[in-house]
Amino acid sequence: MRVKSLQCRICKKEFRAELNYVCDECFGPLDVIYNFDEINLTKNIISEREKNLWRYNELLPIENKKNIVDIGAGYTPLHKAKKLAEKIGIKELYIKNDTVNPSFSFKDRPASVAVSKCQELGLWAVGSPSTGNLASATAAHAARAGIPCYIFIPYDIESAKISQAQIYGAHIIPVNGTYDDANRLASYAGDEYDIGIVNVNVRTYYVEGSKTLAFEVCEQLGWVAPEHVIVPTGSGALLCAIQRGFREFNKLDLIKEEKIKISSAQPEGCSPIVDAIQNNSDLIKPVKKPNTIAKSLAIGEPGDGIFAVNTVKKSGGYGEKVNNDEIREAIRLLASTEGIFTEPGGAVSIAVLQKLVNQGKINSDERTVCYVTGNGLKAPEAPYTQPPKFSIVEPKREVLQSIIRR
Ligand SMILES: *Cc1c(COP(=O)(O)O)cnc(C)c1O
Ligand SMILES: [Zn+2]
Repeated sequence: MRVKSLQCRICKKEFRAELNYVCDECFGPLDVIYNFDEINLTKNIISEREKNLWRYNELLPIENKKNIVDIGAGYTPLHKAKKLAEKIGIKELYIKNDTVNPSFSFKDRPASVAVSKCQELGLWAVGSPSTGNLASATAAHAARAGIPCYIFIPYDIESAKISQAQIYGAHIIPVNGTYDDANRLASYAGDEYDIGIVNVNVRTYYVEGSKTLAFEVCEQLGWVAPEHVIVPTGSGALLCAIQRGFREFNKLDLIKEEKIKISSAQPEGCSPIVDAIQNNSDLIKPVKKPNTIAKSLAIGEPGDGIFAVNTVKKSGGYGEKVNNDEIREAIRLLASTEGIFTEPGGAVSIAVLQKLVNQGKINSDERTVCYVTGNGLKAPEAPYTQPPKFSIVEPKREVLQSIIRR
């Protein structure tokens, strides 16, 4: 068996690898523990495989390959951002461009693993509460698997994200409330109707998919780790998963580095994790009414909050937040220097990068990776406070002389 057990992150009690996500002793979250002595994974073996996240399947919790639901998530470009680096004032900057996944956000990674696990567990339906991106990622993988999908979203997320999720055939349930309200309703649906709610009762397996964002970066850098990574943070699950990914690659001797700074990027208007880091607090203060254009990060009660805080602190990284104007500016900056269009959630890491460099917290020669996690077309109005205006011209060549200047 690939998975040895599930283990409580707090009290370390072990459980069998079933549909379980919470410790019955202390209510801590469970993590997947692998049979590491049985894993034989080398750089050569990995290099020869298909270019998607399943190239690391030994470190993903699916026992039987026939259960894998794959629509091509993962192995996205690691883009060397020369122009942006110059502009910001550092030497070696990379963008992990996860805007180009099948449903256009990094959520395809955990969704692919979670829906696969639901197949393996024989569940009849899947679903998720979502701030938008997980909705489409879950729905797309459910479509491929051919099983029903129930999506719980705050009613006021970007309309592009709602229509995208619906087109895959999912049942859309807009909730009159916040993400956290949608989350509670979805959890209830999971318990009551035996639905695999990918980021709730399947969460233990779900988060494993996001580790591949660490694996790929190391592989694409030529089997070395970055020195500093910046991670857009909502629930904190992605940030914690990236840290575990680096640790597992180190354990398997696929990278030498152990100390990698991990910084958390959040929007003002919903920054409970960054606030706890900055105030050196061991408590997450929930945000009752998140208010930010970075809607994919608007999670007021982050499930992995305190673990993300500890991960950042232990790594020597930072927590930083940015406002809506800074986010809009960062969307424009990334698009106009590197040709990558991201939604506000992804731009938060770029805006925070800029801030950390300005504060002297990132050295100019630090090998830095910014995770850019969602596509700009998911929130096409976000960069503008006013819709852009153009003047329409007659199709006559005379008009060109007043427009084009060499
Ligand atoms: C969900 C999401 C995140 C954050 O992931 P968490 O695991 O909730 O911290 C970051 N960026 C985008 C675009 C997302 O959709
Ligand atoms: Zn426990």
